[in-house]
Amino acid sequence: MGRAFVYVIIGGGVAAGYAAHEFVKRGVAHGELCIISEEPVAPYERPALSKGYLLPEAPARLPSFHCCVGTNEERLAPKWYKENGIELILGTRVKSADVRRKTLLTATGETISYKYLIVATGARALKLEEFGVNGLDAPNVCYLRDLADADRLVDVMQSCSGGNAVVIGGGYIGMECAASLVINKLNATMVFPEAQCMARLFTSRIASYYEEFYQSKGVKFIKGTVLTSFDFSSEGKVTAVNLRDGSKLPADMVVVGIGIRPNTSLFEGQLTMEKGGIKVNGKMQSSNTSVYAIGDVAAFPVKIVGETRRLEHVDSARKSARHAVAAIMEPEKTGEFDYLPFFYSRVFTLSWQFYGDNAGEVVHFGDFSGHTFGAYWINKGHLVGSFLEGGTKEQYEAIAQTTRLKPKIEDLAELERQGLGFALSV
Ligand code: FAD
Ligand code: NDP
Repeated sequence: MGRAFVYVIIGGGVAAGYAAHEFVKRGVAHGELCIISEEPVAPYERPALSKGYLLPEAPARLPSFHCCVGTNEERLAPKWYKENGIELILGTRVKSADVRRKTLLTATGETISYKYLIVATGARALKLEEFGVNGLDAPNVCYLRDLADADRLVDVMQSCSGGNAVVIGGGYIGMECAASLVINKLNATMVFPEAQCMARLFTSRIASYYEEFYQSKGVKFIKGTVLTSFDFSSEGKVTAVNLRDGSKLPADMVVVGIGIRPNTSLFEGQLTMEKGGIKVNGKMQSSNTSVYAIGDVAAFPVKIVGETRRLEHVDSARKSARHAVAAIMEPEKTGEFDYLPFFYSRVFTLSWQFYGDNAGEVVHFGDFSGHTFGAYWINKGHLVGSFLEGGTKEQYEAIAQTTRLKPKIEDLAELERQGLGFALSV
């Protein structure tokens, strides 16, 4: 026995929320759309979990950050799904999928069939065990991917105020959590293998600025090494972190942010994969024409860089979701997804945005000892990427528009002299 829907979305994260909104905007009929999510709550803006959710005072809590508040649109509380005739099956994992039969089997034993399937299963946090370090069961080792992780992180943080926190990983989670730990009055030490934070995006000059700012807030950095093991108390709590360089850091808690893996396992052997995700075309359609993929799990052609990429950021989740729904509901009117990659972060009083591709030569500009500075990336004679810290709304719009245009750059010294003025004049 089972139910049948015209459209089914697996996953109830950011991409699912924006897809549902787009379905309703485009007039989906009551009873046609179903969302199946392992999480117990309606789709929400995941970025809130490493920012507002961790604040010691007036922290963000649901329902305040359900999708689509992140783009200043209506907030889709559970009631909204009901009012729009969308079946929201929460707290339910899809166990298997058969794309030939167009059916899904849930962990509760229900078979759900579809005409069109949208895969929005996102990603899971990589665990230390996958690098041979034991510690998964320790109550004071925290990861951060979903609401349950965030609740646990808040509890652990509150239980060791004034204590020592070790942050493993120098990427997005590491940087945003280290800031929150300090704001919550813990001593934070960041440990990562690279020579600088945010190594995949920041230049060493940009990274130095953030590291110095963090140090001024009390964060310590131990770079170029990884943890090899933990020391445990008799109750199984981690008490210290042992590093490959032989040092030992006392720890009341540990936060781990060492990257993610897309949740593709339901479709391995059934759909074509690329870059660790489900390969889709410019309509977000997979190798099976009834199956679409959006958000972190999708590897799509990023036209502006001329490559298929998987992007792990919220703007791409939102826009790929809207595009897939447009392509399904109005195929003739919907062209190829033409996306300008956009990443951002906000920590302490800092705020940066990046657009495009960080490939080629770099030209820095602005005041690195002050508040507003940035960089352009120039590849094969064209400006392909822009970074700006401390910009105004208009300045961020200007770097986005300039990057989209990929202007020809003949004189790097002149570009450096013009700095932000270049983007404002294009
Ligand atoms: P997700 O939002 O992860 O949703 C996936 C959903 O699928 C989840 O609900 C999951 O439970 C469900 N699921 C998975 N497998 C199954 C299954 N088999 N059955 C049923 N359900 C399933 N990006 C930015 O650009 N800026 C930020 O500031 C930012 N902050 C972030 C902060 C945190 C703490 C995290 C974790 C991410 C952040 N990101 C940020 C990244 C951004 O949130 C993701 O790119 C975005 O959430 C991807 O959306 P998605 O819908 O593809 O995946
Ligand atoms: P990232 O990929 O950003 O960073 C992972 C970091 O951990 C890298 O510095 C990586 O180094 C390092 N690392 C890898 N293996 C180890 C190891 N064994 N020991 C120590 N360090 C290690 O992933 P995060 O976990 O920080 O973030 C998870 C997801 O959440 C990402 O998709 C990210 O986009 C998203 N996110 C985005 C935010 C934003 O956009 N503002 C905010 C928060 C999360 P190396 O590069 O050498 O592998």
